[in-house]
Amino acid sequence: MTDIKKDITELIGDKSLIEDINFEVSNIIIYTKNRNFFLNSADLIKSIVSKEKKRVEVRLDPSLLMEEDEAKNAINKIAEKEAEIKEIWFDKERSIVSIESLKPEIVTADNRRLMNAIKEETGWSVSLSRYPLIKSDIVKAIREMLYANSKFRKKLLNSIGEKIYNSNLEITDKYWVRISALGGFRHVGRSAVLLQTPFSSVLMDCGIDVSNSREPVPRIDAPEFDLSKLDAVVITHSHLDHCGFLPALYKYGYRGPVYSTAPTRDVMTLLHLDYIALGNKTNSKLLFDVADVKEMIKYSIPINYKEVTDITSDIRITLHNSGHILGSSLIHANVGNGFYNVVYTGDFKYAPSKTLNRADNTFERAEALIMESTYGGDRDQQPSREEAEQFFLDIITKTVAKGGKILVPVLGVGRAQEIMLMIEEWQRYGLLPEIPVVVDGMLWDVTAIYTVYPEFMNTETKRRILEHNNNPFMSPIFKHAVSEEERQQILSGGPAVILATSGMMNGGPSVSYFANLCESDKNAVVLVSYQGGGTLGRTLQNGGREVDIELGGKTRHFSVSALVYSIDGFTGHSDRSQLERYIHDMKPKPRKIILVHGEESKILELAHFIRKRYRIETAAPHILDALRLK
Ligand SMILES: [Zn+2]
Ligand SMILES: [Zn+2]
Repeated sequence: MTDIKKDITELIGDKSLIEDINFEVSNIIIYTKNRNFFLNSADLIKSIVSKEKKRVEVRLDPSLLMEEDEAKNAINKIAEKEAEIKEIWFDKERSIVSIESLKPEIVTADNRRLMNAIKEETGWSVSLSRYPLIKSDIVKAIREMLYANSKFRKKLLNSIGEKIYNSNLEITDKYWVRISALGGFRHVGRSAVLLQTPFSSVLMDCGIDVSNSREPVPRIDAPEFDLSKLDAVVITHSHLDHCGFLPALYKYGYRGPVYSTAPTRDVMTLLHLDYIALGNKTNSKLLFDVADVKEMIKYSIPINYKEVTDITSDIRITLHNSGHILGSSLIHANVGNGFYNVVYTGDFKYAPSKTLNRADNTFERAEALIMESTYGGDRDQQPSREEAEQFFLDIITKTVAKGGKILVPVLGVGRAQEIMLMIEEWQRYGLLPEIPVVVDGMLWDVTAIYTVYPEFMNTETKRRILEHNNNPFMSPIFKHAVSEEERQQILSGGPAVILATSGMMNGGPSVSYFANLCESDKNAVVLVSYQGGGTLGRTLQNGGREVDIELGGKTRHFSVSALVYSIDGFTGHSDRSQLERYIHDMKPKPRKIILVHGEESKILELAHFIRKRYRIETAAPHILDALRLK
């Protein structure tokens, strides 16, 4: 029995009301057999929450819950019509019924009336989530897996809580905070930042470098890194350069939690499975397999933006919108109970986009900022979004007039959905003739996940999605291509915009579309993402027109006649002026800025500028450097 459990028992006063006290990470769950206490303890709980500064919840003991079949009927009777319930899951271990609805906002908005009615009638505590508008096998599989492992999950969440509350934390003058550079320093790819104190070891991001076969993974051989002592992993977003090595940690025996937003968890799972499928197809050596991805899901803990969560005895994190892709986060880490505060940006966009709001930049405290610098070079100003859109519209219009096709290689998530909404808008306003937009393979699955989490999008898109009939992603212009046959049909058909992975053209359907389209000057290739060194995309961007491409295990030579364009304005990263503005606007002003996730020359240019203009100390660590923050 830890102290916090004793404290809570004393605050409640009557021991007989408490059957069990459990932790769910740092949340405290009280199980009771007293129905009256379960239904009417709100005021008492509120006072405990304000005293202990922890979230506390009362649930009915599993032995008193209504039978599942009966409860299902009761729930449907109470809420089916209003909430359009599609699926009901029971997690008996935790006395939670999870309801998937097409309109969860109605249930929550309505003064929690329906939720309370369900609680009162059935004894189950309600958790609500949105049912995907586009069928998503991945969302379904993840939810099924979490429920199938509910016993394990209850134990896991409780054991993390025990560890957080049981340690004898003492912040003395010997206390320290340190980061170690495991990946993505003076470089873009394999992002991994180890944050440590005398009590904790937390990994922020765990990516791979897909364009570097020589050193693709983070330096887990660094002396500071000990997998058996790793307490937690936090993932900023689902791009593989930030999460691609995560399942491998489980392969090597890591059995701790991984924190991220729910959309990040879902999309990264999809990208991991896609990585395995692609690797199997090309017979490449894989860093992990499906079993490791499954293990990772079992240990995943979704958290919402602005939800303060203790993840170790002395590190408390809060995720904030980073404006980069769906569910992408900045991590705010409060270390040593306010001793030191670090903000790690992951990838961020300090400007609004079609799908997202711009990145947050107001924090209670922040002494250090670890900031991405992809476009940190002195010449990395980008055209405005309006200019970029106009340029893109002109390219499409011209190419369609010639009867050609436009190939847009995209990262699986982010730019693809931005471009979908852009073209949908042009066609709606009559700025573009009705041509199909082909959304290849897994891009469609990612789009399905976008429709599950409108809460993570900007106000405008959220509103459109919540009104079903006006969901822009459901527009009939979008054609889904999966099979080779469908792809051939598209290639032999009329003008179309084709969105396909990978964004840097280092494998994936974008390369096979390219091979089919590149020899005709009627067609166009539009590069909209960052192109890593050594990739086909970079070669084309640099003007290379004689290229060798590996297709089906054979290398073939192509002379490129298709027009190649680069448009920078659609990037999900902040350009140089947005990076400057972010520092200028950030509240409070950080005392130290550590630059990561950028080519060396760009990082050095940006560091120089920040020192001169803002008089803030900067650091540009090399890989394997350890940096004491305090
Ligand atoms: Zn990213
Ligand atoms: Zn990145």
